[in-house]
Amino acid sequence: MRVTWTGADLTFRLDPDDEITGKASDEHPIKLAINSCSVGGVPDDAHPDLFALAAWTVVAPWTRRRISFDRAVSAELAEALHAGWGIEAGPVGAEPRRPGARLAISYSGGADSVAAAAMFPEAPFVHFQRVTHRRVPNRWPHYRSDVLARLAERTGRELSTVTSDLEYTLAEPRPGYPEHHAVAVGALLLAEQLNLGGLAFGYELGSRWLGGDRYVLRYTPDNPMWAPHGRWGRLFAAAGVHIVLPVGGVSEAVTMRLALDSHLKKYVRWCLRGSDGPCRTCGKCLYKELIQAAVERRPLDTPMTAAHRAARSWLKKPPYGGQEMVEYGLARVPGIEHTLFAGALDYFDATEESTSWLDHCYPPALDEIPARWRAEAAAYIEANVGLMTEDEVRRVETWGS
Ligand SMILES: [Zn+2]
Repeated sequence: MRVTWTGADLTFRLDPDDEITGKASDEHPIKLAINSCSVGGVPDDAHPDLFALAAWTVVAPWTRRRISFDRAVSAELAEALHAGWGIEAGPVGAEPRRPGARLAISYSGGADSVAAAAMFPEAPFVHFQRVTHRRVPNRWPHYRSDVLARLAERTGRELSTVTSDLEYTLAEPRPGYPEHHAVAVGALLLAEQLNLGGLAFGYELGSRWLGGDRYVLRYTPDNPMWAPHGRWGRLFAAAGVHIVLPVGGVSEAVTMRLALDSHLKKYVRWCLRGSDGPCRTCGKCLYKELIQAAVERRPLDTPMTAAHRAARSWLKKPPYGGQEMVEYGLARVPGIEHTLFAGALDYFDATEESTSWLDHCYPPALDEIPARWRAEAAAYIEANVGLMTEDEVRRVETWGS
């Protein structure tokens, strides 16, 4: 793989042993569409390791043996690529980047990143906004990235909005990031200007520890994407930008509660489709409505029925992505047996007691936060959430087994 940055335009050329099909770090199969993308709203100069890491978030799935960057990287970064992926990286010759002093939040506007923002009220936001690619047609005009960007602006927080068409580099799935970490390209290229030593993501307990979403659905202390000792964690650290998961120890029920209790509540938006508000008819709206209804202890409020396409995944047998939150919702939403989730009740014996671990914080998640920011996170958790008991910790550590 050969990578070239021209300003903030990235092009990459595959070597003969590279391939246009690959897997993201969560093992999800993906396919390449086009070998160029660009990033807007960033300076055109940054430490070479930051350019290299930003490029790697886009080209990792296609690269098989080696990568040549257009400027020399540090030996530390090359070593992290070799240790994590078995890839020979070069040329080598730069001094490593020293971590900056600040933590920024990779801010999507969803409940999880709003909860992370509530925990670190001084942290600036970096928001990734999808824009169209100049050579690839936009087949997702209903995805309102402009609405999300405007909501991020209205929070009043120090904000850098980064625009990018990098999701169009994928033919499948569409749209999507080649690696989940590609959402960080802008923050990486801004890391010098913002003096960043850490980047906080809104990944919660399910994503970090329970192998959630499209991943393995079992307890994953060595999660390759988000564990600090995993390959991505070590690579980011080599570039002086630590991956920080402020809400990595709490469930989506807790992030929902924290987000709705925060002064950013008005700007919370997890749906990519609605313009004046969430669309209420996509799979994500349904899933988040289940969680919100559970947190607010009220009946489900949705126009969707079992006949709706996006509801189909709940009519199948588990496992489900976010299954712990489905159990949490089944145990708590009044009248759930009269909703489209009725069928799912047959598969679980969920009670408030059996799901109460999802109201507390898994303590090892706090230990993973770099020392510089740990005390602030721990104080916030202590005041607003509380730690899991030993029994509750065991629920996490036996999940999916
Ligand atoms: Zn929606």
